Amino acid sequence: MTFSSIHERIVSGLTFPLTQYLYNRRGIVSSFRQSSLTEKMEEDFISAIQLRNLRLIIEHACRNVPYYEKLFKNAGIRPNEIRSLDDIKLIPPLSRDDVISAKRDLLDRRYKASALIVDKSSRGPAEPIPFARFKKFSLVRNTSSGSTGAPTVFYEDGAVSAMSWANELRVKQWFGLQPGIREVRLVRISPDFVMMNRANTFRRLLWNQMILPGVNLTDKEYAFIAKQLDIFKPNIIWAFTAAAAGVARYMVEHGITLSENPRLTITWAAPLYEHERESIQKGLGCTVGNIYGMREVGHIGAYCPAGSLHVFQESHLLETDDNGELIVTFLRQTPMPFIRYRTGDLGEVAYQKCVCGRTLQVIKQFHGRTGEIYTTADGRMFSPNFWCRAFMDARLANVVKRFQIIYAKDHSLKVRMILPESVRPKAESILQQMIFKNFGPSTIIHFEYPLDIAPQLSGKYQMVINEAKV
Ligand SMILES: [Zn+2]
Repeated sequence: MTFSSIHERIVSGLTFPLTQYLYNRRGIVSSFRQSSLTEKMEEDFISAIQLRNLRLIIEHACRNVPYYEKLFKNAGIRPNEIRSLDDIKLIPPLSRDDVISAKRDLLDRRYKASALIVDKSSRGPAEPIPFARFKKFSLVRNTSSGSTGAPTVFYEDGAVSAMSWANELRVKQWFGLQPGIREVRLVRISPDFVMMNRANTFRRLLWNQMILPGVNLTDKEYAFIAKQLDIFKPNIIWAFTAAAAGVARYMVEHGITLSENPRLTITWAAPLYEHERESIQKGLGCTVGNIYGMREVGHIGAYCPAGSLHVFQESHLLETDDNGELIVTFLRQTPMPFIRYRTGDLGEVAYQKCVCGRTLQVIKQFHGRTGEIYTTADGRMFSPNFWCRAFMDARLANVVKRFQIIYAKDHSLKVRMILPESVRPKAESILQQMIFKNFGPSTIIHFEYPLDIAPQLSGKYQMVINEAKV
């Protein structure tokens, strides 16, 4: 047995589950083990698991969450009336706007004090809390962009993250990769992140992982990432679709090849288009997969090696409404239940035989997100999340009612905001500073103050409009 395979075993059997447990992310390994059995069971068997979990979370929501208590009362339904999966349609869907206006009403009332503490903390979005398992207040605050023009703030206690980690182990297994193998993750850290910091040493030893920047990347970072991949030699790379495509494109353009290719790259946070898959395959020399998910409810599904987009049915109930929109319910008890949450994505959920042998439902006709990625003249990429985080800045979040960003054809930026006149100069100076820092100091910015920001034909607000896209 080689040293690296011993390390893999220690990571998968001991240090990974133990440290995750201390972050209050429990049951990762057991959920993963169970899923490898259930994913090949009869349709009825999986539906029965879903129904049992659904009834538990509805009961929990009606008892502990003010929003659902009211919702059920107003809709005239009682939790025990949900007797089949179809009965879920009795419950009105939840939109991002509902989440924004409900605020803490959507939170289990026993967690109110914890939410107050986490709101004041300087911890970044989704940053886990060390030893959360043993702390009284253990909520993690997170944010999501979507296309509503206002960031959605939500809280979780580790259950959503735990399920996502379990589903990542499952996807690795689908492609024949063992838990504990060496991996690289291109994540939401700033490009000036220092490599040998504590977080990376911790990850390398305990999780056999390296993290590298995955947002706002330029050629400088691409070169750095390519070099690190060559040194660390991961078996698998996880990355935002734009980041993986960017690195791969850079490597092809500069004739860089890795001394040892990874076996798999999994992209997320955006659909994987065919040209991106091809270019990642070419640049990184490996198979490419994609995970579909949302920050609020974690990973919802993933492509199997046979090319079907399977739903993680044990943890997520996915339906398609009359307009073709995917509606998701997270099937684990959490302090902030998402029951019939509108994804804003189009697709059709169906049972369909897959040659991979898994009986899990598949999403057909998947059209994915409306969110736009923007590339600056010098190659930096920005997802709508950049703006989401910018406007989450406490100095802006309290005054800006709604905003919209337009990337003009001439590469200037139009920032449209709805906010009181008196605070406009201050907001402009804060934004100008952020934009110059990230887009470059010569960026031309136009500030506009419309009376309203009109929704699109679909009735949704588009947070980012990319006119620069050809
Ligand atoms: Zn399949």
